[in-house]
Amino acid sequence: MHFDLDNTLEVAARDYEIWKNTDLDSRIAVVKLIRNQLIEQKFKYATSITKDMHKPISQSLAEVEKCAKLCNYYIEESKRILKGRTIKTGWSEVYLTNEPLGVILGVMPWNYPFWQVFRFAIPTLLAGNTVLVKHASNVPNAAVALEELFRIVGNQQVYFNLPIGSEQVENVIANPVVKGVSLTGSEAAGKSVASIAGKWLKPVLLELGGSNAFIVCEDAILDEVVPVAVRARMQNAGQSCIAAKRFIIHNKLKDQFIKKFVKELKTFKFGDAMNESTSFGSMAREDLAEGLEKQMRDSINMGATLVHGGKRDGAFFEPTVLTNINVDMPVFKEETFGPLAVIMGFDDFDKAVALSNGSNFGLGVSIFSKDVNFIKSKIASFDEGALFINEMVVSDPSVPFGGIKNSGYGREMSDEGLLAFVNKKTVVIK
Ligand code: NDP
Repeated sequence: MHFDLDNTLEVAARDYEIWKNTDLDSRIAVVKLIRNQLIEQKFKYATSITKDMHKPISQSLAEVEKCAKLCNYYIEESKRILKGRTIKTGWSEVYLTNEPLGVILGVMPWNYPFWQVFRFAIPTLLAGNTVLVKHASNVPNAAVALEELFRIVGNQQVYFNLPIGSEQVENVIANPVVKGVSLTGSEAAGKSVASIAGKWLKPVLLELGGSNAFIVCEDAILDEVVPVAVRARMQNAGQSCIAAKRFIIHNKLKDQFIKKFVKELKTFKFGDAMNESTSFGSMAREDLAEGLEKQMRDSINMGATLVHGGKRDGAFFEPTVLTNINVDMPVFKEETFGPLAVIMGFDDFDKAVALSNGSNFGLGVSIFSKDVNFIKSKIASFDEGALFINEMVVSDPSVPFGGIKNSGYGREMSDEGLLAFVNKKTVVIK
């Protein structure tokens, strides 16, 4: 079917004029309809995810349910967040209103094809903007299913799927109707989109990669920590920006940690992604698995030791563990976007902090210790967007999410996500 980009941008701009004047209660009512439809048809939507990127169906269902949770959060909270505020000054009245900006472009990735779109689109729409979504080219079923889902709004359309290649993104950003852009994806895509947005002076929010450390202190209880560690690394076949990628374990616990970690990996059930008992699927694309294999091989050639796994069959990559890591290896320096854990040791906590910070990314870190007060005293020494103590780094609609350094800038979810694409208009009355 022929897709007319110019016409789509025109319609998105025209419908924005209607949508921005639709009161917040009506916008919230639309989000309720979307949520209801999502839950009623959750198997259909989950199947589109599994078809596109091989995620086991039970996890695709969980992804869809998480989108409904995000809707619920903003259904409850958007009035409070968008309310604006008054400021006491020498003038008789000063206040701030949060108004929409216009048509906002989302460039979205394939790893959580519904969740990533929801966390961009729902708050952006509730703020009164309309959205264009350029989804990743390897998730066409999810992209179409999402547009259909958001179409239940009524006469006007507020969500537009753009079935275009990444080379056309520049034209979209340059178009005067587009007032901002949000991208989740790789550093390379982020740099390209940020420079185009800079050229046209449009606000941009970037959620890029991560290489989170997972630090386990001497006093941690391994039987509690290891199942969390495995989940933190192996969720979504390792294809998550907030996955724990570098395990930094106190030397007194390291050997036991490795043993228990490998034992836990052996409990995974491989198989048909549509089978509900499958707990570990293949990666989204063969080229991504090949890239991970190269990072692993190059690191082994530099002295890393393969402890477990390491085999690839097409897009399927075995859950893998490497030790004897140094900071020059690709598995330390680069993001490993697949099921590969690297395990290092430390004696002194400051060394663990230095290893954690020794990455170009700064999305989040997990630290496990009984001495929460000690860890709290060290918070400022971590160069991260988030610090989770005795918990893996997760995304939650009520908690701001985003990174520093090469992980990007801006925050999604919570109040910050809803205020990401608004005009904070100052009103002063003498
Ligand atoms: P990309 O960053 O290439 O893809 C993400 C989105 O960006 C897709 O919609 C893609 O479109 C688009 N895109 C890519 N290049 C450009 C560009 N120059 N201008 C505008 N849009 C662009 O991710 P990959 O699929 O190549 O995955 C590679 C790596 O990216 C992963 O190994 C991982 O490190 C990282 N990544 C991080 C994610 C995260 O959650 N932070 C999610 C996905 C990937 P198209 O598909 O058409 O190319």
